[in-house]
Amino acid sequence: EVAVLRLGHRPGRDNRMTTHVGLTARALGADRVLLSGDAGGSRDTIEDITARFGGPFAVEQTDEPKRVIREFPGRVVHLTMYGLPVQDVEGEIRTACREGPLLVVVGAEKVPFDVYERADWNVGVTNQPHSEVAGLAVFLDRLFEGRELDREWAGATHRVVPKSTGKEVVPVDAEE
Ligand code: SAM
Repeated sequence: EVAVLRLGHRPGRDNRMTTHVGLTARALGADRVLLSGDAGGSRDTIEDITARFGGPFAVEQTDEPKRVIREFPGRVVHLTMYGLPVQDVEGEIRTACREGPLLVVVGAEKVPFDVYERADWNVGVTNQPHSEVAGLAVFLDRLFEGRELDREWAGATHRVVPKSTGKEVVPVDAEE
């Protein structure tokens, strides 16, 4: 199981980024996202997308994100520009992921130092500053070695028909 924790959420300013962390976690193969703080609007959007385009994918909220990290019953990856290059540690993280649950932590503003200490791996997707959404996307794609791109979705009401040009979305029931 792969869970993603969005650490920190500044209402207003972080709404879109928190929503995008959740949507990216879902689209790229994680099983659930935990949102911290007052992120109810993001939760609603991610749940709406899951209801429409399928899952399984869970959205949870926590008021105690540091406790979630401390007590997580598995290994913890913290994505940070200061960490070890993803290409150097992805193999051992993949092995650990086969053996038990994995928590992937992404920050919003400054991440407290005890997160760096609790993490089993502090991982950089490059050592350049960029975005939690981009970091998460590249990390998950590396972790799953691209297999998440072919994932099947259960319980969807709608499905996109891939097209070279134009947009087509069909109700799933109509196909069966
Ligand atoms: N300045 C903040 C700090 O020093 O902790 C980080 C702010 S950054 C906009 C928000 C989040 O994006 C970080 O907490 C981290 O999870 C992620 N991030 C940014 N650059 C990254 C990189 N090169 N590799 C992995 N994650 C990154």
